Amino acid sequence: QAKKTGKNKYLIYTIEMNESILKKKRLEREMNYALREDQFSLYYQPQIDLHTNEVVGVEALIRWSHPEWGEVSPDKFIPIAEETGLILEIDKWVLREACHQGAAWLKKGLPAVKISVNLSANQFYYNELVENVKGILEEVELPSSYLSLEMTEGTLLKDTKKTSEVLRALQNIGVQTSLDDFGTGYSSLSYLKDLPINILKLDRSFISGIKNDNKDAAIVQTILHLAKILELDVIAEGVEAEEQLKFLKQNHCLIAQGDYFSVPLTPGEMEKLLI
Ligand code: C2E
Ligand code: MG
Ligand code: MG
Ligand code: MG
Repeated sequence: QAKKTGKNKYLIYTIEMNESILKKKRLEREMNYALREDQFSLYYQPQIDLHTNEVVGVEALIRWSHPEWGEVSPDKFIPIAEETGLILEIDKWVLREACHQGAAWLKKGLPAVKISVNLSANQFYYNELVENVKGILEEVELPSSYLSLEMTEGTLLKDTKKTSEVLRALQNIGVQTSLDDFGTGYSSLSYLKDLPINILKLDRSFISGIKNDNKDAAIVQTILHLAKILELDVIAEGVEAEEQLKFLKQNHCLIAQGDYFSVPLTPGEMEKLLI
């Protein structure tokens, strides 16, 4: 009897496994198609200077509008794209599109904003990354000081030697680097000392706990304090409420981003905000 259940269990596992493999294969095919059929688009979320209340930057966020499935969240498809390698092509598309948009806004004479683009680990360790970035900036005529690349701690810790090479090469061409979701990974603080990083993006999970969780509030204060000493800029992510903003201002946070100010916007909506 026990043997029989064991076997059935095994059978169920393999069926489930095959199902998830099939799902991934399907997603992969659909993403390939999406790239060719222009189903991806970029939204932009403003980053606000808390002194002047001006938009100083925008984060480009990918959106996928699938003809049958509707909107597919990046949290769902980006990990699969990373597994299959298709992320290289997607990230490259995002980079060009975002830089192109930034250059177009500059040419229109809109107030200058920095464009922030998320990089996956695959793209970060891709040998031609720096050449690609350089090429795209030249092609769309965006000065490198207007671009910032966001990556997570997990990405940077994959290969610490290569990491410092890539970060330095990016600094050399004048592109800024941000640590995304800061505080949620295996933060080894020593790399903050050694690596050329410009911006820490304080993760949303700490911001959301500011009001009710003393520990979150303490973490936010500590990171802000540390960043000040290390001369790093901080962007608070996912600010949703007045009291969070108040706390951040009291603790000398300079830049914030979140639904409290604005959800991610279409390029047209963003433009209206910038005028
Ligand atoms: P992320 O880079 O940490 O981006 C911030 C996420 O928080 C975005 O989710 C944004 O819409 C959301 N957000 C911003 N403010 C608020 C707020 O006040 N409240 C709440 N609840 N959420 C807020 P989104 O656009 O769904 O993206 C999720 C993740 O997918 C991103 O996290 C990033 O890791 C990845 N991603 C998005 N676009 C790209 C891309 O173009 N390339 C790559 N490689 N990854 C991307
Ligand atoms: Mg980001
Ligand atoms: Mg983040
Ligand atoms: Mg994230």
